[in-house]
Amino acid sequence: MNTIAERLARVRREIDTSARSCGRDPEKIRLLAVSKTFPPEIVEEAAAAGQTWFGENRVQEAFAKIPKVRSRGLHWHLIGHLQSNKARRAVELFEGIETLDRPGIVRKLGSLAEELDKTLEVLVQVNVGEESQKSGVDPHSAESLVELVDQFPRLQLRGLMTIPPYFADAEKCRPYFRQLRKVFDQINLGRSEPLTELSMGMSHDFRVAIQEGATLVRVGTAVFGARG
Ligand SMILES: *Cc1c(COP(=O)(O)O)cnc(C)c1O
Repeated sequence: MNTIAERLARVRREIDTSARSCGRDPEKIRLLAVSKTFPPEIVEEAAAAGQTWFGENRVQEAFAKIPKVRSRGLHWHLIGHLQSNKARRAVELFEGIETLDRPGIVRKLGSLAEELDKTLEVLVQVNVGEESQKSGVDPHSAESLVELVDQFPRLQLRGLMTIPPYFADAEKCRPYFRQLRKVFDQINLGRSEPLTELSMGMSHDFRVAIQEGATLVRVGTAVFGARG
């Protein structure tokens, strides 16, 4: 199980199994291969194995990497914290941004997307663990941030994203995934156009996240191997 093609096949099989184990359609779960720290050639290897969605957590790194990837038809999401001074570059590079976590960045992205004539798929990041060192809006403020995003036509709000506290035992992440799902359901009660995406689950806990409703799993290590 050492080539990227083999690892990808295994992750896809596990997504399939987890989805079926709870009666979900595996086709409704998008795998985002998190290529941070890995060079363009490695992205190309994954693309050759059929992977089309990729995630990067740093704008600078993505700026150096994405233009060098020769594979066509790939889609990129930003999954790391976005500073205001990197917002323009982020809008230029990414098709989706999963880390909208404060009003200032929402307004900035909304006006940049307008200016650059670009439509972005966006998610609001929720800090379900309410850990002070993690970014993400607190669960009680998620709905008002969602309403702000709705005011910008170039920002297509698709759903919510979270990074729960880390536990080696993935079962311990379950309550956090469940909480994000609750916030999501609550927000959807008041929406004419419901949110559809729940971005949650990484290499060690995506199986549990899928059981709790994840539609987007962000998997790095299980696809590319350990980061150096
Ligand atoms: C790095 C990263 C991942 C992937 O983590 P793995 O444990 O390597 O699968 C997922 N989400 C975010 C936000 C990350 O920064």
